[in-house]
Amino acid sequence: MDFNLNEEQQMIYEYGQNLAKDFDRAYWVNCAETRTFPTEMYKKVADDGFIGIMVPEEYGGAGLGMFEMALFQEGLSNMGIPLLSLVVGATMSLSPIGDHGTEEQKQKYLPAGCAGDIRFCFAITEPDAGTNTMRATTMIKEDGNGRYKLNGRKTFITDAEGSDYMLVVTRNVSHTEVAKKTDGFTIVILDSKAPGIEMQPIDVSISIPEMQYQLFFDDVDIGPENILGEVGKGFEILFESLNPERIILAAVATGMGRYAMERAVEYANDRVVFDRPIGAYQALQHPLAKGKTEIELASLMTRKAAWLFDRKQACGAESNMAKLAASTAATNAVDASLQCFGGNGFTKEYGIFDIYPFVRLLKTAPLNNEMVLNYISEHVMGLPRSY
Ligand SMILES: Cc1cc2nc3c(=O)[nH]c(=O)nc-3n(C[C@H](O)[C@H](O)[C@H](O)COP(=O)(O)OP(=O)(O)OC[C@H]3O[C@@H](n4cnc5c(N)ncnc54)[C@H](O)[C@@H]3O)c2cc1C
Repeated sequence: MDFNLNEEQQMIYEYGQNLAKDFDRAYWVNCAETRTFPTEMYKKVADDGFIGIMVPEEYGGAGLGMFEMALFQEGLSNMGIPLLSLVVGATMSLSPIGDHGTEEQKQKYLPAGCAGDIRFCFAITEPDAGTNTMRATTMIKEDGNGRYKLNGRKTFITDAEGSDYMLVVTRNVSHTEVAKKTDGFTIVILDSKAPGIEMQPIDVSISIPEMQYQLFFDDVDIGPENILGEVGKGFEILFESLNPERIILAAVATGMGRYAMERAVEYANDRVVFDRPIGAYQALQHPLAKGKTEIELASLMTRKAAWLFDRKQACGAESNMAKLAASTAATNAVDASLQCFGGNGFTKEYGIFDIYPFVRLLKTAPLNNEMVLNYISEHVMGLPRSY
């Protein structure tokens, strides 16, 4: 087993450091506070070839794997510049289109997506179904001409208004009428400006550039060109995207935890109280050392999950553990860092408290850690299902 990164992987991991020369944390924070999409930064990432890391070369991508995507995301977050639209938009959408799209769909979406000319959002969550996606009620129904009408609602959809297209998880058969609860799902690709789609922003208490939206679908016209994969086989596509989402967000969480701790170490070495740098006091050292250990352990599990994914080996256990470990480690790391800053930690100038809501989100979304623990209990350890 080799834990070393090759030259290309090292370059991908360090890309965030180069990007931050032009687009640093301060740029990102300004975008977050003004709720402005970081268009220039996104374009630069696209021009440098990083949006399509996992897209095959013939469609404008780099033809690399999840391992490289996770390194890229971790490296950006190490610099304090996480971009949700690169996770839920670029990665979660381009990969399924690459894997399940028709040739026409691939030609239409992948090169433009890799070039950063079009953006995607990914809509799963519904207000009533919540975590229980099986109970989704956003439906497509045949209208008799080989076309469908889409009706329903989605909520908390990141970057919906800024996106050009959306991948929407729908049902073509109600959950009350299917033999198996995973039957009857269909994923559709929609033009975000299609007639019948309405959006309402949701004001969330997390400072990120991307806004969240409620979506309302009223008789939206759907044809074969909008269907990703087969009608009724959408759950397989959705299932394939769950581990990647957990792996990538774990990578983002570890990077953000590392960023917060590096700021704390700088500050604790510099700030003198009672005639010594506060970093000399074990009461501050030990939580930081513990946080550092937890972050590096989570990073290791994230890389293992990505490595397994790229080899098409089962990675559900590792992806879930990575997501649990990383979101917990990052939250603890930010808390330990915040304590070092004393009152300054709560100021806009130092910007440490502002990291907390973002990393804390990752305990709840995209899947809450209780469901992650349920998965580990049931599927990894063989305990009875609890819900
Ligand atoms: C900033 C932000 C961005 C988001 N972006 C997107 C997006 O782009 N696309 C998208 O589709 N969704 C998105 N979401 C939605 C997010 O994925 C959901 O909020 C999350 O999955 C939790 O679902 P819920 O809010 O319906 O919580 P609920 O299902 O109401 O659950 C509430 C709480 O109950 C507990 N719980 C529920 N079921 C169980 C159980 N069986 N066992 C133990 N505990 C349980 C958990 O603690 C959970 O946190 C986003 C959310 C936020 C806040």
